[in-house]
Amino acid sequence: MIVMKKEEDIELNLTGEEEQPAFVGEQTKEQKERKWFKRFRKGITTSTADKKETPEGLWNKCPECNLISVTSELEENFFVCPKCNYHHRIGSIDYFDMLFDEQHYEVLFDNIVSKDFLNFTDLKNYGKRLEEIHAKTDLKDSMRVGFGTINGQKLVVACMDFEFIGGSLGSVMGEKFSKAVDKSIEEKCPYLVISKSGGARMMESAFSLMQLAKTSGKLSQLSDAGLPYISMLTDPTFGGISASFGMLGDLNIAEPGALIGFAGPRVIKETIKKDLPEGFQRSEFLLEHGFLDFIIDRKTLKEKMSQLLKLLLN
Ligand SMILES: [Zn+2]
Repeated sequence: MIVMKKEEDIELNLTGEEEQPAFVGEQTKEQKERKWFKRFRKGITTSTADKKETPEGLWNKCPECNLISVTSELEENFFVCPKCNYHHRIGSIDYFDMLFDEQHYEVLFDNIVSKDFLNFTDLKNYGKRLEEIHAKTDLKDSMRVGFGTINGQKLVVACMDFEFIGGSLGSVMGEKFSKAVDKSIEEKCPYLVISKSGGARMMESAFSLMQLAKTSGKLSQLSDAGLPYISMLTDPTFGGISASFGMLGDLNIAEPGALIGFAGPRVIKETIKKDLPEGFQRSEFLLEHGFLDFIIDRKTLKEKMSQLLKLLLN
């Protein structure tokens, strides 16, 4: 370790010039303590609101196996880790591009936008929160609806974006969901919902909870029309989503390794005062316990979905 003789030496070293340490023998306490940076205040924590987000980079690190891959290569591999098959979290447009023929589709009901009608304030004002997200992303709300064809068969897809307040279910998502059902009935085609959400949007309070009844009611209209509803759950799907339309599919499917549940594992553990089994709330665990019909790998998503549509409609 280089021991600094005087303050100026720090600058010298930053420019890359090396200088022999002045004290090779015994060091005084003061010399030992002198470091590059001094922390004047202890226990400094940055609140979540003030933390800076890392910009989207060229590189991507797999949270499961730590493999570092080039983002463009990962994209070609459907955002699935080539080493451990970890399914990275992706947004609605990525799913639409993957599913629809020639990446050609129509985005519907994009003019419906969230509003702070309760003047709700938690850590910050809901209206302000919405403004910030609108400035940062091109998302109008936590759900996008796309209409197009999959290997020539028509399909309406409603897909959530976790980026928008944790993919939470508010009145806009409820309305888009309902209109998407109407579109399916109009086009006489199946309805696919891709869920990725923390649950109900607390900033909309009871209005958010009302969406549970609204969406479930709408699904019975789809059922009356004899059209299939496929619910695909991705990582993570929790709370109000899994408690309502997430589990109401004629087919309930999931991506591998997705965390799916109602309450989080910590809450459950504290309530039942028992250790949870391995793989608890993962899609493989849910499949084994009869909550899911099957698990679908993203790389085969389009092909499998196309087979399913054929089977369901004929
Ligand atoms: Zn991996």
